[in-house]
Order: sequence, then C-alpha cells, then structure tokens
Amino acid sequence: MRQPLFCLLAYLVLMSKEIYPKYDIVVIGLGAVGSATLFKLSKSGKRVLGIDRFEPPHTMGSSHGESRITRLAVGEGEDYVALAKRSHQIWKEIEAETGVQIMTTTSGVLLDSGMQPWGKHGSEGFWQRTVSFAKSQEVKHEILDSNSFRARFPAFNLEPTGHAYLEFDAGYLRPELAIQTQLELAGKNGAELWFNSPVEELSKSGKDVLIRNEKGEILAKKVLISAGGWIKDFLPDSEKPRFQICRQVLHWLEIENGAIDWTKYPVWMWGFGANPEDFIYGFPSLDGKTVKIGSESFIDDEHPDFLNRIVSAEEQDLFWKEKVNGKILGLKPNVVQSVVCFYTVTKDARFVIEPLDGMPNVMIVSACSGHGFKHSAALGEQLAKMLTEE
Ligand SMILES: Cc1cc2nc3c(=O)[nH]c(=O)nc-3n(C[C@H](O)[C@H](O)[C@H](O)COP(=O)(O)OP(=O)(O)OC[C@H]3O[C@@H](n4cnc5c(N)ncnc54)[C@H](O)[C@@H]3O)c2cc1C
Repeated sequence: MRQPLFCLLAYLVLMSKEIYPKYDIVVIGLGAVGSATLFKLSKSGKRVLGIDRFEPPHTMGSSHGESRITRLAVGEGEDYVALAKRSHQIWKEIEAETGVQIMTTTSGVLLDSGMQPWGKHGSEGFWQRTVSFAKSQEVKHEILDSNSFRARFPAFNLEPTGHAYLEFDAGYLRPELAIQTQLELAGKNGAELWFNSPVEELSKSGKDVLIRNEKGEILAKKVLISAGGWIKDFLPDSEKPRFQICRQVLHWLEIENGAIDWTKYPVWMWGFGANPEDFIYGFPSLDGKTVKIGSESFIDDEHPDFLNRIVSAEEQDLFWKEKVNGKILGLKPNVVQSVVCFYTVTKDARFVIEPLDGMPNVMIVSACSGHGFKHSAALGEQLAKMLTEE
C-alpha cells in the first residue's frame, strides 16, 4: 500500500514541475527592446525565456518597415546621447560576431525651415537642442546655411530661411535583421524562445510570478514586460491612458530617372512648421528605385488591435500633396507601397522603465514615441543588468 502512495506522490511532484517550470527571468515581448534584453540576458548564465505573441520579426508591432534612423545628438534629451553611442558600439559588436550588417553609416541631416519654432517628441526647439547636444557631447557635425546645403543635396528644396545640421556618424538600422539576429544569438546562448504564444495573465505566487499563456503556466523570479503597445494589456485601467497608440504610415516613392542618385543620400529629418505633424523624414534608396519617406501623426487609436492597417489611394495622394510635393525633388508622385506601423506615445515622449504596480519583481519598459529603436541595444543591456542584479 505504501509503495503506490509513494509513486503517486512522486508522480504529483513531477507533474507539478511539468506544469510550473521555473525560470530566473522571463521577457514578455521580443521586439526591439525585448530581443536586445534577451540577447544580453542569455550571456548571464541564468535560466531565461523569451515569449512573443507573434513570430518576431513581424509586421504587427512598432519595429518593421525596412529601416530606422540612428543619430547621436538626440534632440529628445541630452541623457539619451550616451545610450545612442553605446548602441552603436553594440551593433558593431554583433556585426563582428555574426557578419550580419545591421547598421549603415550614411551621415544624417536635420533640416529646419527656419520660419517657425518647432518641437519634436516633446522637445521644443528640437533643431537648436540637437546642435547644442552635438557640441556638448562631442558629436562630429557641421552646420550649413540653405544655399550651401542645397548645393550639396539638391533633392531638398529648403527655404532660404532654412539651415541644416549634418551629423557624420548618423545612418540607418535594419530593424527586422537586428531583432532576428539578437534572437538567434540568444537561442545559441541557451535562452528558450516561445513564439505565437501570447501571455494572458500575470499573478503573484509566493515570491515568484506566475505567468499564464495557452502553453500552460510557468513561474519566474523576475519578469520584464517589453510588449510595445500591448503594454496596456498589463496595466490597470487608470494607467492605460499614459500610453497613446498612434498610427504611422511609411511610404515608398518612385525615383525619377537620372535626376538624383538617391542611393548616396544621407538619412534626413525635416521640421517645417509649428505642428508636430509638420515633419517628414526619409532614407537613402536601398533598391535604387524607390525612396522611403514618413511623416508623424499623433491621433490616439487606444490599442494596437484597433489600428486601421490599410492605406487607401486617397491617403497616399494626400501624403504626396501635403508633405512631399515641392519639398523633395527627383521623385515621382506615385506611392508604390505603404506600410502601417504605430508609435506608443507618452506625454513627455520619454521612456518608461518602472516596476509594475504591486509586483516589484515585474518591470515594465516602453521605448516610446517614435525614437526608441536606435537606443534599443544599449537599453537592453541596461535592463539585463538590472534584472540580473539581486
Ligand atoms: C513608423 C515608425 C518609424 C520609426 N522610426 C524610428 C527611427 O527612425 N528611429 C528610432 O530610433 N526609432 C524609430 N521608431 C520607434 C521604434 O521603432 C520603436 O520605439 C521600437 O521599435 C519599439 O520597440 P518595442 O520593443 O517597444 O516594441 P515592439 O517592437 O512592437 O515589440 C513588442 C513585442 O511584444 C509582443 N507582445 C505584445 N503583447 C504580448 C503578449 N501579451 N505576450 C507576448 N508577447 C507580446 C509583440 O508581438 C511585439 O513583438 C519608429 C517607429 C515607427 C512605428
């Protein structure tokens, strides 16, 4: 009689281990920030798991669409400059380890039409702030008046009142490649990865966190929620309005034959009016046929699930007429492709890194407001450090 009872007990203990595998650290959301954090955590010797609701890199979050600008004199805040500089080092380290090219240095320009003061991402006087941070943080740059700028880059019809900041070490990142490469490296280092597996609920279980998703339940000593716009799913109702979900559209426009060699152009951003939407940015041509250009929009759609993911011909036409026509030369008026993405925006456009209310071993991170990708590598490194410290 004793033996079957012992076997039953042993079976139950084993089963409970099966049902609740325990990890040191679980990262929920493997986009820009989550993949960078998991990569760094995978070197810590801890048992780590990364979970995503889709299969990253994917096109449902904030980290798709071919390219992201990276720049060092970050007008959003001087304290971000060190983060951007460290991220450049990390991208280079990853490139050396894998042979994958994530970052391309093209130089970058920030244009100011010079007619009205304008802010960006919560920072008034964005152009002046950028110049001032470049000087104080020793970022290599040059200031050009409108004439000398247009002589060098004839595609930009900058007003005579305008001026340009040119940063030599700016360029673009390949977001999908960055995420994929960091997840592959994390996997090689022993991190476990669960894809297509949305986390449904977190709760306390003694000192640990119980994580529930459709694959079952697991325990973690510490958790990072890097779920992008879905961060709202983990917050109480009173906290949700802190994060606005703002639809953004990227457009690819066809190059006019022979006019300008867009493959040799820098990345660029242009503020031309007082409204936050009076802003465009773009990239050199990656295929020699098209150029990607975006603007910004700050209408709150409340949740990623409510986004209109379709771009109509009227919307494309309006983009050309209101944002590009007359400003950028050497492009045809036809938009050949458009992609919807979204920003997760806070009031002051700064990142949020804090414990989840009532759960001190769960950290939330939101690399917000349209300027997070360039910082994600260094941010991931810092988060990994915080999560591995006792
Ligand atoms: C159009 C556009 C242009 C931009 N341009 C620039 C730029 O030029 N330079 C720059 O530095 N930044 C730029 N940004 C901002 C930058 O891309 C974002 O700040 C950054 O990509 C956000 O990364 P993230 O990890 O926070 O979110 P995401 O990359 O969206 O990752 C969140 C992940 O969490 C997963 N997830 C969500 N809920 C769950 C759940 N319940 N369970 C498991 N997984 C979950 C999602 O599937 C997703 O993979 C731009 C953003 C957009 C949209």
